Amino acid sequence: MAFPTETVYGLGADALSEQAVRAVFELKGRPAQNPLIVHVADAEMAKRLVTHWGEDAAALAKAYWPGPLSIVLPKASIVPGIVTGGGLNVAVRCPDHPLTLELLREFGGPLVGPSANLSGRLSPTAAEHVKAAFAPQQVLVLDGGPCRVGIESTVVSLAGSGVRVLRPGIIGANAIAKTLGKGVTYDDGPRFGVLESPGLLPSHYAPAARTVLAKGPGIAAAVAAAKGDAVVLVHGAAAPSARRVIILPAIAVDYASSLYAAMREADECHPSVIVVEEPTPTGDEDERAVWHAVLDRLRRAAA
Ligand code: AMP
Ligand code: MG
Repeated sequence: MAFPTETVYGLGADALSEQAVRAVFELKGRPAQNPLIVHVADAEMAKRLVTHWGEDAAALAKAYWPGPLSIVLPKASIVPGIVTGGGLNVAVRCPDHPLTLELLREFGGPLVGPSANLSGRLSPTAAEHVKAAFAPQQVLVLDGGPCRVGIESTVVSLAGSGVRVLRPGIIGANAIAKTLGKGVTYDDGPRFGVLESPGLLPSHYAPAARTVLAKGPGIAAAVAAAKGDAVVLVHGAAAPSARRVIILPAIAVDYASSLYAAMREADECHPSVIVVEEPTPTGDEDERAVWHAVLDRLRRAAA
């Protein structure tokens, strides 16, 4: 079953059932070493999944749950290895969506919830996106409307030394540092080989069409190079004459919430290239954190 969250739609299955989780990997065509985020109804449910729920975990859950923050901690033995891609740590998160919180409470246990799309493709931010990817007999979709945040959760690791943001999201490292009263680093660069986080694959979140990032005069140049067959996504620059121009909001959080739907719309035109105006992170530190997360998705889409 697919469920709505404030970030993207998730593909739900009993997180404590190896068989159920295996079906999710198969359906998504997801590489087995890519761990899944485990969704919980509250901190109490999360505590059962980890060996140690310390002060930092408690402070983050209190400050941000329900919300778009996944916390990585050493896993308890009840969590099957398949959930964590064979790793020793598990990512837990309490999603901020009334339907899914109710589902979690009714079910009474944790659910895995990777994005409800085929592995590597654009994440779904509306029920229709999930229905376009899977047949009704494969996936039942709980329609909770469009996703408010629109990009995947921030993933922060409390396992290992130091607090590290493994995947940027709308909650930035600075905000987490303030909550914890200690330093937090971004550790979200492209990675090859052993994966700590699948969202860290250099190419991910990608439309089918070739995607390029461009700025200033580079936008018109990229459009010209495509000989009229480009679709352009702009949010500040003057719209060039292209086959289709999609205008995105200039405010970071609004940009994030419309990004994937806009990329889908661009992709549906089957252009030879999608040209995206590269955002310049501006504003206060919270806004810059959102732009950082957006840029991360754009770079992976363009990789
Ligand atoms: P998706 O379910 O498609 O949003 O992708 C799952 C994301 O969760 C990955 O990109 C990782 O960043 C993160 N993740 C899940 N489990 C773990 C874990 N055990 N350790 C580190 N990151 C994880
Ligand atoms: Mg995904």
